[in-house]
Amino acid sequence: ALAGETPRADRLIEYLHRLQDEHGALHVDHLAALADAMKLARAEVYEVASFYHHFDIVRAGEAAPPALTVRVCESLGCAMAGGAELAASLGSRLGADVRVQRVPCVGRCDSAPVAVVGQRPVLHADADRVAAVVAGGERDEPLPDAVRFDAYRAADGYRLWDAVRSGEIAGDAVVAALDAAGLRGLGGAGFPAARKWRTVAAQPAPRLMAVNIDEGEPGTFKDRHYLETDPHRFIEGMLIAAHVVGIDGIWIYIRDEYPALRRLLAEELDCVRAAWPDLPPIEIRRGAGAYVCGEESAMIESIEGKRGMPRLRPPYVAEVGLFGRPTLEHNLETLWWVRDIVAPAVTGGPDPFASRGRNGRKGLRSFSVSGRVAKPGVVVTDAGITLRELVEEHCGGMLPGHELYGYFPGGASGGMLPARLADVPLDFDTLGEYGCFIGSAAIVVFSQHDRARVLAENAMEFFAHESCGQCTPCRVGTAKAAELMKQPAWDAALLTELGTVMMDASICGLGQAALNPMQSVLRFFPHEVGATKKEEGAA
Ligand code: SF4
Repeated sequence: ALAGETPRADRLIEYLHRLQDEHGALHVDHLAALADAMKLARAEVYEVASFYHHFDIVRAGEAAPPALTVRVCESLGCAMAGGAELAASLGSRLGADVRVQRVPCVGRCDSAPVAVVGQRPVLHADADRVAAVVAGGERDEPLPDAVRFDAYRAADGYRLWDAVRSGEIAGDAVVAALDAAGLRGLGGAGFPAARKWRTVAAQPAPRLMAVNIDEGEPGTFKDRHYLETDPHRFIEGMLIAAHVVGIDGIWIYIRDEYPALRRLLAEELDCVRAAWPDLPPIEIRRGAGAYVCGEESAMIESIEGKRGMPRLRPPYVAEVGLFGRPTLEHNLETLWWVRDIVAPAVTGGPDPFASRGRNGRKGLRSFSVSGRVAKPGVVVTDAGITLRELVEEHCGGMLPGHELYGYFPGGASGGMLPARLADVPLDFDTLGEYGCFIGSAAIVVFSQHDRARVLAENAMEFFAHESCGQCTPCRVGTAKAAELMKQPAWDAALLTELGTVMMDASICGLGQAALNPMQSVLRFFPHEVGATKKEEGAA
């Protein structure tokens, strides 16, 4: 597992991946040997390995899992497209030598339902196609047809980076351009990017950077889209950010479900390092199937080789982040926009954000659209577009035979809106009055053939599965809510009280937002759950 390296505690998860890749699972005696080699307590290695869903631990006396696993996505888009039925049919079809697992979102909601054979995704999967891939022996995902380094450079790529690193364009001008464009963090939190850069730059060196490509929010697949089409636009933005803020080391955390993108990124970063050998160190880190690691401080814990449990704040990661150092944390897409915003601002061209936006909003947004639309996919269009406009203008309308019944405006955690609110501008800060938020702009559209309560239950089971367990309101609350939501008639008073406790007392956004879809059902689709109000004084 160490492959000749001097062991580093922060690389524990990388070593666990190597062990599992080599042996098909993590055997407890291997874990013990790894702990000894790393001079770590065996309990420490075990607690990390057992935290992440993608590690299979084989304890003494247990049989190893079958050599091949087929993962079938059961999150929102795939559930609507028959994921559960697919998983059930595969169980009997593929036999005992193949393990079929139902798993949360694999980031390919535009091609639902999706199964993953080994590491090879089968899009628009049915049992025949999955069986054919299993029989054909294909296990790896092919590299995407992305714009590679030479082609990117030939098209004037890295010109802005050259200008920034040479001092031709001052760092202050770069930050001012981001400010003027109003670029906000596009991982979901929406924090102004320029303010983050200034805050971290004002901290003492060494300063570090952590890039979040762990998109696990059901319905979100935009980062995958950008990385598999134009990775250098993101890398150029990342290098510019690192230079302007004065970063001494960069860690890129990418979800385990994107193996081909991890290989692509490694290859392209080699080209970048060859072109500019004096860059700060850049390390790629592989996630291990924990949605909560999309939360910035949990990701940082994971990069440090620990369980991905969110930290209490303050201090904020901009002040005390990765390895205790001030850290600039960004989602891939935020960095992807840097080049296009900064280049025109400093060379006098039009600001791509300023000229866009509608319904009173400004800028561009990347919407991951899935569900019951004719043409799902990533749509880059005006901030403030409405769901009705988005579906009609960019997604080919609804699927034949489907009428709009409602939608998730911000993935599983962003709540749900009914069809009568299809004309609300979609952007940061426009959905609060409806108890919703746009988050990473993952739009999941559902129709009269779906039930909002079933989708809310699906989302709640996902959160119960992904809760890191650190705080009681979330650990117990998500499981309790999932149980309560299975009742034919919901106890609105009890669920609302539970939601309030979770919102007020959970450490991170997972627990705080987990009940949003439930609250949306009570508010907008109460006829589905025969919502009852608990009587005063009732037990
Ligand atoms: Fe973990 Fe949930 Fe608490 Fe977040 S809210 S720290 S996911 S238990």
